[in-house]
Amino acid sequence: METVIDIKHLNKAFGQHEVLRDVNFSVKKGEVVCLIGSSGSGKSTLLRCINLLETPNAGEIIFNGNNILDDKHEVEAYRTHLGMVFQQFNLFNNMNVLANCTVGQRKVLKRDQATAEQNAKKYLDIVGMGQYIHAKPRQLSGGQKQRVAIARALAMDPEVMLFDEPTSALDPEMVGEVLKVMRQLADEGRTMLIVTHEMEFAKEVSDRIVFMDKGVIVEEGHPDDVLVKPKHERTKAFLARTL
Ligand code: ADP
Ligand code: MG
Repeated sequence: METVIDIKHLNKAFGQHEVLRDVNFSVKKGEVVCLIGSSGSGKSTLLRCINLLETPNAGEIIFNGNNILDDKHEVEAYRTHLGMVFQQFNLFNNMNVLANCTVGQRKVLKRDQATAEQNAKKYLDIVGMGQYIHAKPRQLSGGQKQRVAIARALAMDPEVMLFDEPTSALDPEMVGEVLKVMRQLADEGRTMLIVTHEMEFAKEVSDRIVFMDKGVIVEEGHPDDVLVKPKHERTKAFLARTL
């Protein structure tokens, strides 16, 4: 399988605080990788480096063979390859659901309104929000908002979907509906990198689990290995706290 994202010797510090230390890992086309670890271990920073919301201090981020940290790389063009879903939905509250899902397609991808709407509706149907195109975000539940956020990301036709704890801000009864959509995307063979605390979900959907602690990748492998028979003490301790 071809490698889509290849991270090499990535380092990131905020002042004296080293948040990522010599991080190496890759995501292949069609792979679902779940990134787990305690709060503060650097998971969000790693995702934010991948989409260049943070600038790494050292290392390489190779996307489809190109080092995107090269000066000549077009940041905006690169970002269109990544679909990002955050904990806090980040929908535009003054726009209805449909407009939320078309604005990026129009402004960034320069699609015409009809094409953007058609594509938005396709993905809103997939996430079960096709009936809500005229609703404003404030009229939606957290689970519904997050499903719109997923549709909005998908409507940009990204190569990789990045999720940063997409269910952490949700009421417990809404977690399932969002995980169901993500499971469906995984089953379709989408390339996904997911930060999550939902261990059952991670076990079911991932091809690979990456465990981070204090800015270092401690262990990675098949979920049956990392989650069931972890090799490292730090992984064992984390799982004992989580499961
Ligand atoms: P996680 O997502 O695993 O909980 P984060 O990547 O959010 O971890 O944070 C890792 C560490 O980096 C934490 O100690 C956090 O306080 C610190 N950190 C994150 N963002 C910043 C920032 N913009 N400035 C300073 N410190 C930061
Ligand atoms: Mg985080």
